[in-house]
Amino acid sequence: MSRFGDVRGQPAAVEVLRSAVAADEVAHAWLVVGPPGVGQVELARALTAALNCPDAAQGEGCGVCPTCERIARGRHPACADLEPEGANHLVDAVRERWIPQATRGLAEGRRRVLRVVAADRMNESAQNAFLKVLEEPPPSTLWLLEADDAAALLDTVVSRCRRVDVLPWDQASMRAEARDLGVEDPDHIEVVARAALGSPQRLRALIAPDVEAARRTHLALLDRLAEGGPGLALPVAKELTTWAKSRVAPVAEDNAAELTRLDEEFGGDRGWPAGLRTAVKKRHERRERQEERAALDHVLDDLSSYLRDLVVVQAGGGSDVLVNLDHELELARDVRRLDTGQLLEALDAVAHCRQALERNGNPQLQLERLLLVLAVSLFARR
Ligand SMILES: [Zn+2]
Repeated sequence: MSRFGDVRGQPAAVEVLRSAVAADEVAHAWLVVGPPGVGQVELARALTAALNCPDAAQGEGCGVCPTCERIARGRHPACADLEPEGANHLVDAVRERWIPQATRGLAEGRRRVLRVVAADRMNESAQNAFLKVLEEPPPSTLWLLEADDAAALLDTVVSRCRRVDVLPWDQASMRAEARDLGVEDPDHIEVVARAALGSPQRLRALIAPDVEAARRTHLALLDRLAEGGPGLALPVAKELTTWAKSRVAPVAEDNAAELTRLDEEFGGDRGWPAGLRTAVKKRHERRERQEERAALDHVLDDLSSYLRDLVVVQAGGGSDVLVNLDHELELARDVRRLDTGQLLEALDAVAHCRQALERNGNPQLQLERLLLVLAVSLFARR
């Protein structure tokens, strides 16, 4: 899918980008602000196709020509995704990879779209190095900076970009996506559409039976802490990190298979062009880290959605506004033993754990700390 018309859940962003292309007023740098994974890739591909498709019309690529097809798969010289190699984008990456890539001639196509994933994770020196190319943009290059937190970017970077906001998906888009993914039962569609919290990635994961089962385990965590007390923090943290690691196994297997195949193609691990094998292994490690992080995010999303529902029930909200529609009984039980102050404190603790993981904190230690805080702040006798 490489057409703006195929981008789901972001009508406002689509309109801004499509009309900019149609009017031939495409800024050389865009700042796409919003939570990750809500359509950034699809928007980037649609924009790249609109700018490079030989049959583009009215700000839209044709969607069927070989150029559009390769762009849809991210396999065209006009597409590039710049991802952080570790926790952050570093100045070396900006100087040694981004700038040469932006200034190099384009082998094919008219306009290169460089997508900076998690641009808000550039540190200050990386941003300063990046400013130079923003100030003197190469004519055939367009930057698409993606940021969840625009405040983490220097004003000088932000002011040189045109901003477009992306939002969590609405319920109608979620339900449509669930149906497209093959969920048929209307009750099930409603449950996963709400529990997905506006994130299509989370929706896709929730449809997998093992992740749905894990969600039920996560939502029951508070009850386990209520019964077992702070002593459960360590074993439960272990259990959760083991689950997150198990989610990485299929990706790790894929990566190992790819490395074996490439080793054979290059005639052994010494036959590779200089530096390439290291680069491939780095990419694999990054993928595995991302997968583990996504699994840990599931745990935190489940916990915070449950706490959020408790606050809502306490404030008198009905089932029409619940995220965890399938847990009404448990919510009614827990709301009787917790007060709003405790719940808000608990939500803070989850947010704190998420930040610590973003900064590459040790998952097991951070989860253990979170569970201890929850056990004590929610259930210890005062
Ligand atoms: Zn086309």
